[in-house]
Amino acid sequence: MAPCGARVPRARRLCRYSNRDGIGAHAADPGRTDCAEHRQAEAAARGGTTARGYGAAHQNSRAAWAPQVATGTVTCWRCQTLIKAGRPWVLGHRDDRSLPSHPEHLHCNQRAAGLSRHGIGEGA
Ligand SMILES: [Zn+2]
Ligand SMILES: [Zn+2]
Repeated sequence: MAPCGARVPRARRLCRYSNRDGIGAHAADPGRTDCAEHRQAEAAARGGTTARGYGAAHQNSRAAWAPQVATGTVTCWRCQTLIKAGRPWVLGHRDDRSLPSHPEHLHCNQRAAGLSRHGIGEGA
């Protein structure tokens, strides 16, 4: 029921990725719920390859961190000191699961594992 006199433009469905990743509202392709660009990005992500310029915020795998850690500019989240280039490190799982994984020194990881294994709390 269009209001009198007003020619309502054909209802255009918005791409379901609208307002995500800093991309504002934009139209989906006719008969679809997403646009061609996002459909390709999604397909690329499913295929295991990261689409160019896409998903940077979601890169928290070890492979994604590796180049950055190699520069020696990433801070270990456990001891808050830099992980120097060439040092052994692991992608730690935080005690608080709601936080994303973050690189940590191998020795920090082992220390934490040892503490929890022996039931000794933090601050020992
Ligand atoms: Zn889109
Ligand atoms: Zn550390």
